[in-house]
Amino acid sequence: MSDCIFCKIVGGDIPSAKVYEDDYVYAFNDIDPQAPVHIVLVPKKHYDNIKDLDDDRIKISIFNAIQKIALDQKLDAGFRVVCNTGEQGGQTVEHLHFHILSGRNLQWPPG
Ligand code: C5P
Repeated sequence: MSDCIFCKIVGGDIPSAKVYEDDYVYAFNDIDPQAPVHIVLVPKKHYDNIKDLDDDRIKISIFNAIQKIALDQKLDAGFRVVCNTGEQGGQTVEHLHFHILSGRNLQWPPG
């Protein structure tokens, strides 16, 4: 989508600090980190949210990427994966994405 900020990041039109990439997904450091490690993982193809994701190759890539990032970044003390979805879920960017948060004690339940 031409007006989607994450499509622009994937396309290189907006700079980002790349953490991981494969054929289907792209991960970068969040511009406004909420933890010492805060990575955003997005499918390269635009989907508004997880309800629209219809490609099993991308679903597999997302899980592979989370595992690789956790290993590569040595998130051995723990981490959290968050997929804010919709208005009540706190989603502000309407391009499916997963937050990978680590490096501090994360509270539960979230606010
Ligand atoms: O789940 P939510 O939609 O609120 O998350 C969007 C995330 O995208 C935020 O954490 C925000 O800081 C991040 N972001 C970014 N780079 C941008 C725009 C937003 O990392 N250029």
